[in-house]
Amino acid sequence: MITLSVEQLCNATKGNLKAGYASLSQSAAITFNNVSTDTRTIKNNDLFIALKGPSFDAHQLLQSALDKGASVLLVEANSTLTIPTDSLVVEVEDTRIALGLLGRYIKQQITGLKCAAITGSNGKTTCKELLSAILTAHSGNADKVLATAGNFNNDIGLPLTLLRLEKQHQFAVLELGANHIGEIAYTAALAKPDVALVNNIMPAHLEGFGSLEGVATAKSEIWSSLASDGVAVVNLDANFANDFIEQLQNKQQPLITFSRETETNRTVDADLFATELHSNELGQSSFILNVKTSMLFAQKQAQNESANSLQNIQIQLNLPGKHNVSNALAASAMALALGCSLNDIQQGLQTLQQVAGRVNCAVVSDILTVIDDTYNANSASVSAGIDLLAQYPCERLLICGDMGELGRYAEQEHQTIGEYAQQQNINRLFTVGNLSQQATNAYNAASKNAGAEHFSDKQQLKSAISAYLGSQQSKVVVLVKGSRSAKMEEIVAFIKQEF
Ligand code: ATP
Ligand code: MG
Repeated sequence: MITLSVEQLCNATKGNLKAGYASLSQSAAITFNNVSTDTRTIKNNDLFIALKGPSFDAHQLLQSALDKGASVLLVEANSTLTIPTDSLVVEVEDTRIALGLLGRYIKQQITGLKCAAITGSNGKTTCKELLSAILTAHSGNADKVLATAGNFNNDIGLPLTLLRLEKQHQFAVLELGANHIGEIAYTAALAKPDVALVNNIMPAHLEGFGSLEGVATAKSEIWSSLASDGVAVVNLDANFANDFIEQLQNKQQPLITFSRETETNRTVDADLFATELHSNELGQSSFILNVKTSMLFAQKQAQNESANSLQNIQIQLNLPGKHNVSNALAASAMALALGCSLNDIQQGLQTLQQVAGRVNCAVVSDILTVIDDTYNANSASVSAGIDLLAQYPCERLLICGDMGELGRYAEQEHQTIGEYAQQQNINRLFTVGNLSQQATNAYNAASKNAGAEHFSDKQQLKSAISAYLGSQQSKVVVLVKGSRSAKMEEIVAFIKQEF
């Protein structure tokens, strides 16, 4: 983070020095270049922001923050403080909002920074990694690109990401997540992106959004944060694409569209699309990326060519599955809007080896391949995994834990994946948890050979896996899936250790 004075902090957060504690003249020399909201990781001279959560109030930790070296405390007005009066305390109405304002302020201090914001039901983190790889190839230096770390994509994580910006950064690639209406509107307004993507609209977090329409409304909040010359990136293969295009065209918002499914009927043609898609035995793809010449913003002469002329380039993608071809197209569209060339895109996409926990293929033995897709799950990402598994011309086992946060749709969504696994000829389905019993039932109802089995705990599941894999003589591919709460990585570790 860039260095700030206490005066700048007060201006950025609309805060005031708390009466009865150290004064501005006493604090004039104090600056800080790091913010902490967690006393377990606080460092010397940090600004400590006391956030209030549903189950915890960090105002109880102010003394601990001081003991660990915090030089300034940001607290909520009206809080009762039990700390020495020589402490430097800035008070604001709401520390969560102040954190956001501070993040926005830091971003405004970075001259020439270009910002990309990514939302959607699935593939946000993957698109973020792909775009960061392209921008790194473009700028020749990873230090010029700041990307959301891990999954810091909510109303706390996004401002904390902005606070990590430094003067050398040329690009910020930000993931915006949401489980309720209004969350993206809030984080996108802080980020003020130059280019924004809604990657897809799928039945995820339905508990918070109520319906698929609710998901679309929530994700489309990102468009309103774009400046009039900011670029919206729309996936033509996704639900609600036509609604988004109509909405954006009405506002005369610059638009780039992409599609993996070139044969789909739709009202507009894609600006970027993939052809000659091939995948190898690890599911990795090669394809031709086709781009309308008018979208090659980095090449000035391209602007004069006919609007529908095309340029193309061969792409090698290490991330398995067709859904990652979509993600690569999304990242490429954003990269073009940020001034990258086709060569930058080609080079960047091929450097990314994997995104941890997302379709990570491992050849465990001569006959066993395991695909670890345990980071998270909803019916759309399970279906994407099933499509990948179905490509393997051998015995195929899908192991699924429960999918969470689906509210009243939980039963139906688990049934959907059971039916889909059966339709796609997945030979065996093992499920564990409470909800995923529905997947097993649906699979067996649709199949003659009762290839699905449900287990009430992981111990039973492990025994069944041992018996099943122990009896295999020829090649078998296993895909392991489940929501974060299901912690199915334990099963991946078990298989790798045992076989
Ligand atoms: P989260 O909401 O948990 O942050 P995310 O949107 O960041 O998720 P990823 O972490 O990239 O998404 O991927 C999560 C899961 O979705 C993985 O299983 C991944 O394989 C799958 N996935 C990624 N991209 C797509 C896509 N375009 N369509 C369907 N599934 C996808
Ligand atoms: Mg994510």
